Amino acid sequence: MPIDPKFPTNHNVIGVHNHADGQHYHFVWGPGSFSDASEDADVREAYYTRREDLVPVGVHGTMVAVDWDSCIADGSCLQACPVNVFQWYRTENDVPAIGMVNATSGGTGSNVKEERLDATDKSDPIREHECIWCMACVTVCPPKAVKVDQENMHFHIVASDTSITMNT
Ligand code: SF4
Repeated sequence: MPIDPKFPTNHNVIGVHNHADGQHYHFVWGPGSFSDASEDADVREAYYTRREDLVPVGVHGTMVAVDWDSCIADGSCLQACPVNVFQWYRTENDVPAIGMVNATSGGTGSNVKEERLDATDKSDPIREHECIWCMACVTVCPPKAVKVDQENMHFHIVASDTSITMNT
């Protein structure tokens, strides 16, 4: 199933994925729900091999959003992006995907399609802030797990203000 185009209104912020530069971060939206990933044989086998539970994990990013429940670790978005927005999350933080709802990454993971660890890996929009809105990633994703919308900056700002309020 494609990413819900209205995910910022149909879901809530469930976490913040910080960039280790101390300046940037992207939100995680949930709750997630079972979708293409849970139906994909390669993904299911990879979870089984790792002895990890395949559970809903939500949407990472707001302006450049990847539905991790739809993402089947194809990697075409990493290959297509001209400005290196994405990385394979597990090549930097090799933990179950649910553990990335609140995490910090330095952006040191691989952005090479062929270098995913296995089919449990996910495309992480760690450099969402560098997107140039070319839409290449949206076009190439087989399950249509990626939504790019510059106007979603509004939701990012509102969520940021709310997070700041909650933390003060
Ligand atoms: S829209 Fe273009 S620049 Fe933005 S993340 Fe996708 S491929 Fe990269």
